[in-house]
Amino acid sequence: MSTYRIGVIGLGKIAQDQHLPVIAESSDFTLAAVSSQRGLTAPGALAFTSAEALLAGTPHLDAVAICTPPQARYAIALAALQAGKHVMLEKPPAATLSELAALEDAAATRGLVLMTTWHSQYNAAVDMARDLLAGQTVAELFVNWQEDVRKWHPGQAWIWQAGGFGVFDPGINALSIVTKIMPHPVFVERADLVTPENADAPIAVSIRFAGPGDLRAEFDWRATGGETWEITVVTGHGKRLVLSGGGTRLAVDGVTMAEAPQREYQGIYTHFAELLRAGRAHVDAAPLRLVADAFMLGRRVATAAFTE
Ligand code: NAP
Repeated sequence: MSTYRIGVIGLGKIAQDQHLPVIAESSDFTLAAVSSQRGLTAPGALAFTSAEALLAGTPHLDAVAICTPPQARYAIALAALQAGKHVMLEKPPAATLSELAALEDAAATRGLVLMTTWHSQYNAAVDMARDLLAGQTVAELFVNWQEDVRKWHPGQAWIWQAGGFGVFDPGINALSIVTKIMPHPVFVERADLVTPENADAPIAVSIRFAGPGDLRAEFDWRATGGETWEITVVTGHGKRLVLSGGGTRLAVDGVTMAEAPQREYQGIYTHFAELLRAGRAHVDAAPLRLVADAFMLGRRVATAAFTE
């Protein structure tokens, strides 16, 4: 089995928490290069201070994982594809749907693998929920995604800027579970985007999805008493599924059916290796589409300025 030489671009929180350790223990990948604007390095890997320098300086690289904020992702991903590299895109895969469509075309034209990584989808409990809901009707969907932005995103100025997604940065993880488990497509009917007067992006969002059924989502970054990452689905037959812990636990009518420690990024890299071996792309735009729809239909509700 071949080992792929991979480069990681942007050594921020997620690169350090997940990508680098998971690559280090992977039998499919070798960390060949990193690029960090701040000049961070990684043991055994060539180090560069820009994506351009990394692409120019490592002709033998097979693939890159792009772990920058979303606003920078498109230009870097396009340059990587133009340099003949396969590309893994952190979530959200691009700042806009048009950018993602253009990347999909650019990869297909060159016969390269492009993969969107919706990490919350890589949980056995999520797969079980999808299987249990297949062919069912849904009477209720309630997405309750609450966390403290000061705890989870300290110092991340980009997240408040246009294209930074605000509370949709975690909220899109919930939507990536929703689009995977729901037995039918969901559509945003109404959205309230609660936005600090000194920010471009929302701190809290309420979404009502089109029926039939009572389908809602609440994302809130102002929760200071611990986090809640929970999705409840009640079927037309009254069965109650609760996915909690960000998709790591599933209870059905109060009985735990699946619970496992998070190994999302191990799953992501295993899937990327499978795609590389098969020469197949995996581009899932559905969670990004829902966020775009919420911004398109949403009502901006002003709230007090945010200070960290
Ligand atoms: P972060 O800590 O702010 O790291 C992003 C890094 O990207 C920065 O530290 C910087 O690293 C680099 N960077 C920043 N601006 C750049 C630009 N304009 N061009 C090129 N590189 C730039 O953010 P993060 O939490 O790791 O999130 C990054 C992405 O991963 C986001 O899309 C986020 O949604 C996703 N994600 C985050 C988590 C999480 O738990 N934090 C989980 C899953 C997915 P260098 O100085 O090293 O270049």
